Amino acid sequence: MIHNFNAGPSILPKEVFEEASKSILNFNDTGLSILELGHRTSIFEAVLEEARLLVKELMQLNDDKHVLFLHGGASTQFFQVPMNLLNEHETGAYLDCGVWGIKAIKEARLFGNVEVIASSKDRSYTYIPKDYIIPAQAKYFHYTTNNTIEGTELFNIPQTNIPLVADMSSDILSHQMDFNRFGLIYAGAQKNIGAAGVNLVILDKYMLKGIERKLPSMMDYRLHIENGSMLNTPPVFAIYVCLLTLRWLKKQGGVAGIEKINREKAALLYKTLDAHPVFRPTVALEDRSRMNVVFVMDDAEKEKEFQALCKKENMVGVKGHRSVGGFRVSLYNALPLESVKAMTGLMEDFARH
Ligand code: PMP
Repeated sequence: MIHNFNAGPSILPKEVFEEASKSILNFNDTGLSILELGHRTSIFEAVLEEARLLVKELMQLNDDKHVLFLHGGASTQFFQVPMNLLNEHETGAYLDCGVWGIKAIKEARLFGNVEVIASSKDRSYTYIPKDYIIPAQAKYFHYTTNNTIEGTELFNIPQTNIPLVADMSSDILSHQMDFNRFGLIYAGAQKNIGAAGVNLVILDKYMLKGIERKLPSMMDYRLHIENGSMLNTPPVFAIYVCLLTLRWLKKQGGVAGIEKINREKAALLYKTLDAHPVFRPTVALEDRSRMNVVFVMDDAEKEKEFQALCKKENMVGVKGHRSVGGFRVSLYNALPLESVKAMTGLMEDFARH
């Protein structure tokens, strides 16, 4: 058995792969592959509609939220958000907690003013700043809920009266939260939602007022809403894989059900790391991500040994991001508890020897 700890694209449920494989040959007994269906057929429209409704149900979204499936990965949202929400004379407030937030900040500066209201750069992004004030006159407050590379996660929603905009690419649907508190949520699908190639964007009606800038059609949220995510050919197969993954998540008891397992997986892994000084988790205790567990070893030779051991035992995707080094073990929704147990077993053995 291969244990897949990849940071993204990452493991998806086996039943999703099985169903998706069948549908490549014959989708729902139509005699056609999902890859050759017209996107404007009632068959595909049903896929898109069910996926949209499942997002609403699983996230318990209110009727003011629009659910979109868009192209371009989360990185497109780094600029599509300010393009649509920030006029040139206006200010977006941003939290700087790592690589992805920095990219979002860089892109936003192309369209308006950016105020970075707090940063954890001083300690190499190993914690989440706590005592910051969100300026009341800013147009929105943007933050990354889970910092995939650095392994920090913000579990509590920041208190503010201005609209919240969140990049939830790497922890969406992994734990319960009041998703209705956000003006805009975006997430690349390739971790907890489905296959790479599609972005989930959820935005509240009230976010769409006051756009002064002229926008290319494909960048304009309003047009995507009017056209039900079908302004052009949508990423049909990627959306279909999202549908299968969302159905699977519902069967696990939805977000509440998966949160229970996610807590158990992360607790077991951190407990093992903390018990053995050879491993050194890099992140402040209270900000440790339940999705991406980052740790290093103080001895480069030992790191190499553990890498080799992981490889031998079919544990893939554990190498840390080049900017952090060490290891990153990703525990997304579809990763079974058994894989974490296999990893902690290996860690125990390694520490003992
Ligand atoms: N934001 C976060 C938090 C991410 O983890 C990633 C990718 N791993 C991105 C943005 C960029 O996503 P994409 O590659 O889909 O543009």
